[in-house]
Amino acid sequence: MAAQLIDGKALAAQTRASLAPRIARLRDRGIAPGLAVLLVGDDPASAIYVRNKIKASEGTGIRSFFDPLPASTTQASLLDRIGMLNRDAGVHGILVQLPLPRHIDAQAVVAAIAPEKDVDGLHAVNAGLTLMGKPRFRSCTPFGVMKMIETTGIALAGSHAVVIGRSNMVGKPMAMLLLAANATVTMCHSITRDLPAVVRLGDVVVAAVGRRNLVTADMVKPGSVVIDVGTNRTPEGKLAGDVDFERVKDVAGWISPVPGGVGPMTIAMLLVNTVQAAEAA
Ligand code: NAP
Repeated sequence: MAAQLIDGKALAAQTRASLAPRIARLRDRGIAPGLAVLLVGDDPASAIYVRNKIKASEGTGIRSFFDPLPASTTQASLLDRIGMLNRDAGVHGILVQLPLPRHIDAQAVVAAIAPEKDVDGLHAVNAGLTLMGKPRFRSCTPFGVMKMIETTGIALAGSHAVVIGRSNMVGKPMAMLLLAANATVTMCHSITRDLPAVVRLGDVVVAAVGRRNLVTADMVKPGSVVIDVGTNRTPEGKLAGDVDFERVKDVAGWISPVPGGVGPMTIAMLLVNTVQAAEAA
């Protein structure tokens, strides 16, 4: 293996530990950062994500409030619930686990969260601030990816970063954060012509698609930083990313694994944003 491994699990533990002095200072002011996690329905994958988020907050001094709601919850009652949490001074961050059941408009739900409690960074106000290069809450996954790239020590300024995927949650904010770090950014999507040729230009590649083995060794510039956001299931039911890890690791300079890469960092950055929300309250 030529590439150095970017250990998201270890970095996430370090990130959580680094919050301790900030949480202690809040405690001195009589504040315990509060994170409300809403889960609508019983999607098993969402239940695991939510459980991991709550577990990560345990022992940090962040109080998490789990709010499981039945799949039959109406949009109106979910919006009411969010309204209550917006007014609750003990709740500094609100996270609604996505996706939501089909009868609920996710955009309307995200828009109902008070922007100053939107620790997922998905509200239009926070997305807009990121777009303007003045981020308040950075979307957790791209925020975590930036921390992972930082650990490599490479200079992002002037480098060519290629982002594969253009979702509002990952691809777009990822491109904005890389741009703010003065990378030259190319965004790819399902209509991109000759994806391998574009990806090969990347000093940094972030794959956020949801397609196993999309990024193969011949697509990667030798020595580059390859961050795998994707989560897919192998036929055996194992978690796998978008990058052909076994082969790409012999070409890249740095590579993040799945599992143990971006996933734990996404959760760690949610806690960072929650502490930031409590400090600003
Ligand atoms: P999404 O909303 O489905 O977006 C996927 C993007 O991939 C779209 O922009 C799509 O292009 C693009 N795409 C699809 N096929 C492609 C192809 N053949 N070549 C190039 N681009 C292609 O997904 P998402 O929410 O951004 O998530 C992406 C992946 O990251 C998923 O596997 C998700 O589970 C994972 N994820 C992981 C974490 C974590 O914490 N580890 C967090 C969030 C997401 P179009 O726009 O043209 O359709």
